[in-house]
Amino acid sequence: MGAFDVAIVGGGLVGTAVAYGLARQGARIAVLDEGDVAFRASRGNFGLVWVQSKGLGMPEYAAWTKASSDAWAGLRDALRDETGIDTAFARPGGFHVCLTDGEMERRREQNKRLHNQPDMVPYEVRFLDRKDALDLLPGLGPEVVGVSYCPLDGHANPLKLLRALHAALARRGAAYRSNTPVQRIERSGDAFALTTPAGTILSGKLILAAGLGNARLAPMVGMTAPVRPQRGQILVTERVAPFLKHPLVTVRQTDEGSVMIGDSLEEAGFDDRVGHAVVAMMADRAVKTFPALRGVRVVRTWGALRVMTPDGFPIYQQSAEHPGAFLVTCHSGVTLAAGHALNLAPHVAAGCLPDAAFAAFSARRFDVRAAA
Ligand SMILES: Cc1cc2nc3c(=O)[nH]c(=O)nc-3n(C[C@H](O)[C@H](O)[C@H](O)COP(=O)(O)OP(=O)(O)OC[C@H]3O[C@@H](n4cnc5c(N)ncnc54)[C@H](O)[C@@H]3O)c2cc1C
Repeated sequence: MGAFDVAIVGGGLVGTAVAYGLARQGARIAVLDEGDVAFRASRGNFGLVWVQSKGLGMPEYAAWTKASSDAWAGLRDALRDETGIDTAFARPGGFHVCLTDGEMERRREQNKRLHNQPDMVPYEVRFLDRKDALDLLPGLGPEVVGVSYCPLDGHANPLKLLRALHAALARRGAAYRSNTPVQRIERSGDAFALTTPAGTILSGKLILAAGLGNARLAPMVGMTAPVRPQRGQILVTERVAPFLKHPLVTVRQTDEGSVMIGDSLEEAGFDDRVGHAVVAMMADRAVKTFPALRGVRVVRTWGALRVMTPDGFPIYQQSAEHPGAFLVTCHSGVTLAAGHALNLAPHVAAGCLPDAAFAAFSARRFDVRAAA
């Protein structure tokens, strides 16, 4: 099936963002993608490009997230210039709404712990009571007690992002092979040999960006990817006149006018079905937040599976046993798309993830140490 500089396993947001960054470096690329039978978080997510509250327990992740958010406008412009597709990225600042005093207190406490961490990247988060929040979010319901606000939060259209990344890759001559699951990975001299039902692909470098599929593939090149599915359910309403400029962590109006209401956090294994009780709870909370949503019709609901590591932080790692093989996985692939394309890919192209920036993200952090 051919020989390439880099083979990327997985054509979701993570694989295509890294692939796009590599293509910008001039690499000859193949993206191998399993197809419609796969679980695809990239087609079922909420579309936030979110900074506030990220990184409690790993300040490096907070800095990495902020850097990606800062780079996002550049990614949006590059993709629009290359493909004509507008990913609808905007960073108007985002809100987390609290409906009880207890929620507000917990939020403040969590924010304090996050920002008190040594080496935490500084950025602004403000807590507003209901009265002040109303100036920025007219239409808030009487049950809203207060909000946290971060000017760095934004959102994008994740489906347009995925389409734009694929279109940009095609324009740059990358080979995209759909319905091509990678079954086996072996060394063949200096190259990686990837066995698929359609034949074998040879590549100098290998990126594992197969989402939940990484768990099976990583050990083939001497790494571990302890990722598990975590279900999220989402509702989408009919289109309504613009009423909400800012994204909230659970409600946002899309560039097309519909309102997305999300998104649950459920340990349900590989079950991606929708459940009435959860959807009803999310709708209830959205109506308490914006009572005007009460009369708006829901047109779609779905469940999708997040790609979750044990601590929720990404894995970026080069295999020590098989240099040239990289593992890339995270649960915020929209937020981190700019970081993956513009900040991570150049290091992968150079063949090295510098320790100063990436050591914290290695899956070796999950190794269990024997008691001394
Ligand atoms: C409900 C929900 C809400 C979310 N909200 C947000 C949000 O607001 N903001 C945000 O930043 N992120 C959000 N996310 C997370 C985001 O969607 C994911 O981080 C991102 O989509 C992961 O992309 P991925 O490419 O790693 O995985 P996927 O999209 O799952 O893609 C993996 C790809 O690998 C392929 N594959 C698997 N095995 C193989 C194999 N053996 N050979 C070849 N190909 C293979 C599959 O075909 C698939 O296309 C959300 C996720 C969910 C589920």
